[in-house]
Amino acid sequence: MTEAVLIIGAGAAGLYAARTLVQAGRRVIVLEARNRAGGRIHTFTDAGFSAPTEGGAEFMHGAVPLTRGLLDEAGLTSFPTTGTTYQVVEGRIRESEDFIQDVPHLLEQLHALPHDMPLADFLTDYFGEEQYAPMREQVMRFAEGYDAADAQRASSFALREELSGGGFDDSPHPEGTYGSLIARLVADTEAAGGTLHLATVVQEIRWQPGQVEVYTTDGRSFQATQILITVPLGVWQAAADSPGYIRIESELPAHRAAAVSLGYGAVIKVLLEFKDAFWQHSSSAVTQPMPDLSFLFSDAPFPTWWSQLPDPRPLLTGWLAGPAAARLRATPDETLLVQALDSLAGLLGTTPAFLRSQLRTHRVVNWAADPYALGAYAYTTVGASAQRTVLATPVANTLFFAGEGVYDGPYIGTVEAALTSGADAARQLLDA
Ligand SMILES: Cc1cc2nc3c(=O)[nH]c(=O)nc-3n(C[C@H](O)[C@H](O)[C@H](O)COP(=O)(O)OP(=O)(O)OC[C@H]3O[C@@H](n4cnc5c(N)ncnc54)[C@H](O)[C@@H]3O)c2cc1C
Repeated sequence: MTEAVLIIGAGAAGLYAARTLVQAGRRVIVLEARNRAGGRIHTFTDAGFSAPTEGGAEFMHGAVPLTRGLLDEAGLTSFPTTGTTYQVVEGRIRESEDFIQDVPHLLEQLHALPHDMPLADFLTDYFGEEQYAPMREQVMRFAEGYDAADAQRASSFALREELSGGGFDDSPHPEGTYGSLIARLVADTEAAGGTLHLATVVQEIRWQPGQVEVYTTDGRSFQATQILITVPLGVWQAAADSPGYIRIESELPAHRAAAVSLGYGAVIKVLLEFKDAFWQHSSSAVTQPMPDLSFLFSDAPFPTWWSQLPDPRPLLTGWLAGPAAARLRATPDETLLVQALDSLAGLLGTTPAFLRSQLRTHRVVNWAADPYALGAYAYTTVGASAQRTVLATPVANTLFFAGEGVYDGPYIGTVEAALTSGADAARQLLDA
């Protein structure tokens, strides 16, 4: 057998590593369970949508140098979101950019905190009085709705860093969608001689130093001298008797335990493309219009919505994240659609029947129900940094690890995290 590297997973991490390795002269074979590349980047063009639509990652959060580097290579740029941000709480609508009121006071207490603790405990201990009830609500909504975190486990220090680091800055869209970056990584990898096997579900990895054998659910096997595992945290966390579980022989108890201890949140995205942007104008059917709607944050069951502005395309995206989304893991898509339409109708002062009459097409993407993701993205729990280091540590120069879930740094839960982890793992493999 030649000195091949097997890469499990053709998401951003696996593909970035694949391209780096193959361009450095290594023989690379990527095994991907789905019949498409991209993983949690899922830009789709089917189901009657009028343009490519993001079922997974959509925005760029922060400076994101590797993501920007890929865009630059493709001669692409990014465009900022524009429009008006609305909030609807207890039926009252207002225009507001502030997710959380009195952030300075919150930050003051967070900075005074002597040691990290779960966010829910911090709020009870430091902002327990009745007067802080709205702030507690806002912080919980931010942690759950934006970070997809469970506040009972989420790190208070992580929130401190997020709030200190300008977490509310504009998050632009990559020009040409995230899908174009994936297409480029695939094309470059294949052009340099890398092989990509789609619809190839790995169920077992057997290894000894310098030798790896991988078995798939359809009875094939692949051999290599090294392997890079980039599956999501949800797959690492799957129970031994569940469908997504990957058996590793010899087992890696420290890695598995580290993965299980890490925070991994759920997200449901509901994409609704309408005949036109009826929400912009008051009419007999819409009593609470939202002209120029960019983002809408609310206390409705499907609380968060956004448009595609500055692109005028009449697409509204509904978003539910965190424990509330995890509880709906097994709920049928049609029921989720009904719940999303009920929420949106209440927010716009219209009826679900009117929304349905305006709907051109729709898609529900329930990431926790997806067997190859089993969730959406990582959040930081107390003590996560040490566990991520364990999970990212190579074993016997043979097993290597990447994916947004093993990343530790300022871009937790993002495409940039995945790309960075892929770049790091490729470097480790080349140095090994
Ligand atoms: C709804 C949603 C919204 C998001 N929004 C943003 C955003 O706006 N901005 C941002 O930067 N990030 C966002 N993210 C996060 C971002 O999408 C991820 O961090 C990133 O895409 C993860 O890349 P990855 O390569 O680590 O994992 P993945 O993309 O999940 O790749 C892992 C691959 O492993 C494959 N796999 C799993 N099991 C097996 C198996 N048994 N055999 C073979 N292959 C297997 C999977 O199919 C997958 O393709 C979002 C994610 C979601 C879900």
